[in-house]
Amino acid sequence: MLNIVLFGPPGAGKGTQSEKLIEQYQLKHLSTGDIFRANIKGETELGTLAKSYIDKGQLVPDEVTINMLKAELEKNPEAKGFIFDGFPRTTPQAEALDSLLASKGTEVSLMLALEVPEDELKTRLLERAKTSGRSDDADPAVIQNRINTYNKETAPVKHFYAGQNKLQEINGLGGIDEITQRLYKAIDSL
Ligand code: ADP
Repeated sequence: MLNIVLFGPPGAGKGTQSEKLIEQYQLKHLSTGDIFRANIKGETELGTLAKSYIDKGQLVPDEVTINMLKAELEKNPEAKGFIFDGFPRTTPQAEALDSLLASKGTEVSLMLALEVPEDELKTRLLERAKTSGRSDDADPAVIQNRINTYNKETAPVKHFYAGQNKLQEINGLGGIDEITQRLYKAIDSL
């Protein structure tokens, strides 16, 4: 199985690049942000809970997120591989993913970390707000909170995968296709 963790701060381009990777490698896309937003739209209990965190630019608690991810993995027993987009976002989530995949006889193949400077992230998110309808993109204070949360809670997850020799940092600046080629190259050299 090919299991890719696509990693990076908010606005790094994870969603855009995931679309390219799922097509190229026939992977199942699991985006925790997308799943939370679908739950918010469907007005589920999980959606109401997630919204209270997302609106503030905070992370949804690990236990909730991990249980949700586990259920999604179980819904897709036939998948050839997964692309994890927006997960894991904390070290406990990364540990949980390792044991979930181990219980299925597989593992994370590679973490691709998109590197984008903070100023560029803010510009991209405010631009995306014009069309995404995402209230967490429209408010500069919420954007700043998401970036702070990333730096404090999420960035350390890179060390987790670096320790397993699975981290590849990718320059996330440039044209969309140019960045896609960098990602393909990293995957194809596995
Ligand atoms: P982005 O990376 O552009 O900020 P996402 O769509 O990946 O956006 O996530 C939106 C929000 O959903 C996050 O700010 C966070 O509140 C919540 N979220 C997504 N994934 C996770 C996760 N793995 N753990 C906790 N919260 C999450």
